[in-house]
Amino acid sequence: MKSLVLEEQHVLSLRDFPEISRAEATLGPRDVRIKLHTVGICGSDVHYYTHGRIGPFVITQPMILGHEGAGTVVEIGAEVTTLAVGDRVCMEPGLPDPNSRASRLGLYNVDPAVRFWATPPVHGILRPTCVHPENFTFKLPDTVSFAEAAMVEPLAVGVHAATKARIKPGDTAVVLGAGPIGLVTALSALAAGCARVYVADLSEKKLEIATSLSAAITPINVRSESPASVVARDTDGWGVDVVFEATGSAAAAARVFEPLCPGGCVVMIGGQPEPIQYDAGAAMIREARVENIFRYAHVFPRCVGMLASGAIDVKPLITRTFAFEDSVHAFVVAASAPASDVKMQIELPQ
Ligand SMILES: [Zn+2]
Repeated sequence: MKSLVLEEQHVLSLRDFPEISRAEATLGPRDVRIKLHTVGICGSDVHYYTHGRIGPFVITQPMILGHEGAGTVVEIGAEVTTLAVGDRVCMEPGLPDPNSRASRLGLYNVDPAVRFWATPPVHGILRPTCVHPENFTFKLPDTVSFAEAAMVEPLAVGVHAATKARIKPGDTAVVLGAGPIGLVTALSALAAGCARVYVADLSEKKLEIATSLSAAITPINVRSESPASVVARDTDGWGVDVVFEATGSAAAAARVFEPLCPGGCVVMIGGQPEPIQYDAGAAMIREARVENIFRYAHVFPRCVGMLASGAIDVKPLITRTFAFEDSVHAFVVAASAPASDVKMQIELPQ
């Protein structure tokens, strides 16, 4: 029962982790036990490896990484009614206190008590099995592969962002950043009805991947042209309806209103480690609406539905797959941030 353990900053090992086996020896009445099949490597996993912390969350003791998972139900609790042994599933990694004020308001993702996989002190799922509540475990149709299902977690961020933007059919959008989250946001914006989505990045390789996803995506290499100038040229100076900030860069965020049309909406997605400045005057003269998102809520079934119907295809984003036994190497590769990779995944032995 080996797990991929972040021992401390820069130190990973694939080893037995008896604490987790003990903690999950018993199954609650409304829990299921899942044999993991595929787990995606997230930027946050890599950041804990390279920096030992994300904001206030610090690695002070060994922690198992991974939170983007799909697998097969191998055992169900006595009161479970919607899942059966053998069901293929994906899992929502953040568990709120169901009785908290935030949860009762439907805002369970911003419940201060949320316990989220691979966020200290909560262990992740780069391990053979995990126990998870039925309510946060979603059955997959046969047409959705484990690899696609392990993309539901990052896709959920894009779908939540598009939902917050309140996209209408025929809207236009700019996505700043062509990393995994930028690209799932572009796909989500198109699925929500956008007529055109501009994707801006510094990396030509990433922009090539973005362009390959849809004829309705226009790449902008910010080394040679600004999103504002391209959008102004294409829209007779009006601007786009929505700007999604998916870089987490303070410099990009500072100019986020430039391509936005009057009355438009900016959605801040990228995590900002430090307080940032943006042009409040530019926001004001547009009466811009600014939305912030934190992870997602209520969107996993929607994501599974769109993968099943083909409304969204995440397969081109999965650029590399590693065997579980090569997990440590996979993280070394991921930490080097290869320009031509979007999402790397790890497959566990079945
Ligand atoms: Zn993630």
